[in-house]
Amino acid sequence: MSELDAHVYLSPTKPIPSAVPGWDGPATWPATTATLITSERDSLLVDALMTTSESRALGEWCDGLGRRPSTVYVTHGHADHFFGATPLRARWPGLDLVALPAAVPVAALQVGPALLPFWRSVFPDQLSDEPGLPRALAEDEVLLDGRARAVDVGHGDVDNSSVVHVPELDLVVAGDVVYNGIHPWLAGSTPASRAAWLEALDRVEELGASRIVAGHKDAAAPDDDAHRCLDATREYIAAFDAAAATSDSPTDLFGRLLATHPGLGNPYTLWVAVHDQPGR
Ligand SMILES: [Zn+2]
Repeated sequence: MSELDAHVYLSPTKPIPSAVPGWDGPATWPATTATLITSERDSLLVDALMTTSESRALGEWCDGLGRRPSTVYVTHGHADHFFGATPLRARWPGLDLVALPAAVPVAALQVGPALLPFWRSVFPDQLSDEPGLPRALAEDEVLLDGRARAVDVGHGDVDNSSVVHVPELDLVVAGDVVYNGIHPWLAGSTPASRAAWLEALDRVEELGASRIVAGHKDAAAPDDDAHRCLDATREYIAAFDAAAATSDSPTDLFGRLLATHPGLGNPYTLWVAVHDQPGR
C-alpha cells in the first residue's frame, strides 16, 4: 500500500468590514486551513476556503504539488469552509463535493436568503455567484479508499460538525472543532452549546491522534500538537463560559478574555462573540 501524506494550505487573514460598532482598528476574518491528503492514486481535500481568490490560490498550490483532488470533504456547514469549492469545481470538472448528511442542511442555510446576502456584505464581489452545496455522503461511502474517516463529533463552532481521522498519519483534520492560536468562534453560543463543544473535544481526543490540523490556525502557531491544541481550545471555551456568567457587559467580557488570552490571533472574533450572547 502506498504511503499517505498530508499537506496543509494556510490562507491568510482577510480584511472585512466591521459589523459590530465600537471595534477599534481593521476587522479581519481569521487565517483558514485546507488540507490535502494524498495517496499514490488519489487526493482528498478537506475543506475548501471561501473567496474566489483564495480558492484560486489553493488550486494553484495543489497544481504545484502535482495533485488534483478527486473529492472535497466539508467538515461542517459554515460558508468559510465550502464556498471556495465552487471555483475549484470549475477548475477541475468532476471534482466531488461531499459532507456528512447532517452538515448539508447547515450548509444550505449559508446559501439561502437568510445568510447569503450577509456573506456577500462581508466579502463583496469576492464570492462565487452561486456557491454549490456538498452532497450527502452515503452510509457505506468511504474517503480515500477508506484510509480517511469522517467522524461526526456533534457541536463544534456550529451544529453537526465532523473531523477527518487518518490513522496511518496519526492525524485528525478538525475543521472548526479545534482552534490553533486563534480566538474560537463563540458568537451566538450559550452555556449548553459551549458544554456540547467540550464534549466534541472529548470525542476528538478519543481518536488518539498526535497531530491535529485546526480549521483556523494562526500563522505564528508553533505546531499542530494535538494535546496542546485540544487543551487550549478546551481551556478557552471554559474560560469564556465562566466569564460570560459573571461579566456585566460585552466590553467587560471582551476585556477579561483578552487579558487572559493575549497572544491569540483575530481578536475581532472575540469582539463579535461578546456582542452576540443570547439572553443577555
Ligand atoms: Zn470557520
